[in-house]
Amino acid sequence: MTNGKLLIKGGRIIDPANKVDVVGDLLIADGRITQVGGKIADASAETLAAAGCIVCPGLIDIHVHFREPGEENAENIASGSAAAVAGGFTSVACMPNTNPALDEETAIDFVYRKAAAANLCNVYAIGAITKGRRGEELAEMGQMVRAGAVGFSDDGQGVAQTGTMYRAMQYVTMFDRPILQHCEDPDMAHGGVMNAGTTATRLGLPGIHPMAEELMIQRDLTLVRHTGARYHVCHISTHRAVELVRQAKAAGLPVSAEVTPHHLLLTEETCSNFDTNCKVNPPLRTRSDIEACIQGLIDGTIDCLATDHAPHGIQQKELEFLDAPFGIIGLESALPLYVKALIEPGHLEWPALIEKMTVRPARVLSLNKGTLAVGADADVTVIDPKRTWTIDAAQFASKSRNCPFHDWPVAARPVATIVAGQIKYRL
Ligand SMILES: [Zn+2]
Repeated sequence: MTNGKLLIKGGRIIDPANKVDVVGDLLIADGRITQVGGKIADASAETLAAAGCIVCPGLIDIHVHFREPGEENAENIASGSAAAVAGGFTSVACMPNTNPALDEETAIDFVYRKAAAANLCNVYAIGAITKGRRGEELAEMGQMVRAGAVGFSDDGQGVAQTGTMYRAMQYVTMFDRPILQHCEDPDMAHGGVMNAGTTATRLGLPGIHPMAEELMIQRDLTLVRHTGARYHVCHISTHRAVELVRQAKAAGLPVSAEVTPHHLLLTEETCSNFDTNCKVNPPLRTRSDIEACIQGLIDGTIDCLATDHAPHGIQQKELEFLDAPFGIIGLESALPLYVKALIEPGHLEWPALIEKMTVRPARVLSLNKGTLAVGADADVTVIDPKRTWTIDAAQFASKSRNCPFHDWPVAARPVATIVAGQIKYRL
């Protein structure tokens, strides 16, 4: 593309932010959307044929772990960005549980510099709530906001001390940034490696009770009611947690929630073969929890989809189930897995799915993204909804391979990922 123009021809343009769902062309110039819909002729533009494909705002994932600084052998910001665009994502937000944690201005700067050098997708930084994520002293959130932090989280663990969480919520209301909580009471969850229930008992593995999640959400909702802080429930996983968020929203509290692909597709039973690629936190739950999460997506209780992309090196995941770290990668398999969980069974149509991967996550972090409005940043994903393929972790751009969906036959695949008008990935 020499003159900065790109013409995407003949796709089904789905832009939930503007309630658009039409077949037509889309023109990009100088990094912005300049014309949407109808037949567009521009002989000077590079052309991308999109007949039979969906053309939508670039997908957004507000929950990824890129492991830099500290564990660059598992992932770094460049490899994570490559995985993102291969999965159709144009914007991601990095959690701060790196080593050292992203708990100060210079660390937030570091993420933005590395992301700019990688030059693949928009990478936003989420700052730690507490220094070193130790759950004690509040981090300098104000300075991190000035450096570009889009939200705050001690993800990987919940903030256990109630007074600390209360002060954190009071603090963030000064900046209109959300708290993204890893909702898990650490004392309740202590030592657990999978969902507490009949499967854990049968396998002889220590469990994490659903109450660990629900107790922290209940406490936090009380704090939200008093502080007015924006509060986001990361990776919701239990049916009672979904009900708590539903009630909080009905009461008008500024609460949002996300759910991962694995919490929509896999149950605790998957742990029966002791595959450490099924060891995630929060743990895989039960069929009724999955049904509640799906219902939460349908009725809007759960705002958005997020992968919790959590790379780990092979050596670590080859440990025993008890000792292996929590987490799986997700960026390059997310879209077809959402299709399998939500579209194929008829729970959602494409516009609703895309809404939960674009404008909704953008709103959680107040990102000026997730729309194809004229003048908006030209972040666009082109999806072939009928393309069938087999997930092959060996082919991933991610440095890690910890994916329980390897070898799954799926449908739908991103075929082009465009960031600021530049094609960053093309199948
Ligand atoms: Zn988490």
